This record gives sequence, structure tokens and C-alpha cells, in this order.
Amino acid sequence: MLIAMVLRPCPSCRIPTSWEGNAFKPFCSERCRTQDLGAWSSESYRIPEKPQEEAGEGWSGEVEGS
Ligand SMILES: [Zn+2]
Repeated sequence: MLIAMVLRPCPSCRIPTSWEGNAFKPFCSERCRTQDLGAWSSESYRIPEKPQEEAGEGWSGEVEGS
């Protein structure tokens, strides 16, 4: 049984790169990871906004029926 090295093409430069001990997987290098993140952030810069629920307001103890 062969021990298969996990080689996956880098999403950025398509160079097959080993994931074994690769801190930048699925990218081949820090540079590719940074490039991809840069492209991603510039392409879709939608920042998921958290709904500003005013927790704390409405906690005034207004009880109906009393
Ligand atoms: Zn790469």
C-alpha cells in the first residue's frame, strides 16, 4: 500500500503542493495565500453586518397585565 502524499493544486497558482506540514494549505506559500485573500477581499468586500439589536434596551421590566 502506497503512502499517498496529498498533493493539491494551489488555488492561486495551480502548482501541486503538498499539504503535509504546509502551514499555508491549500495554498503553496504565504504569498499565494495573501494574494488570494487580497483578491477575495477586493472582489467581494461585503462585510457581514451584525444586526444592531439593542440588547439592554427593552429590559425595563415593562410587564403587561398587571
Ligand atoms: Zn501557489
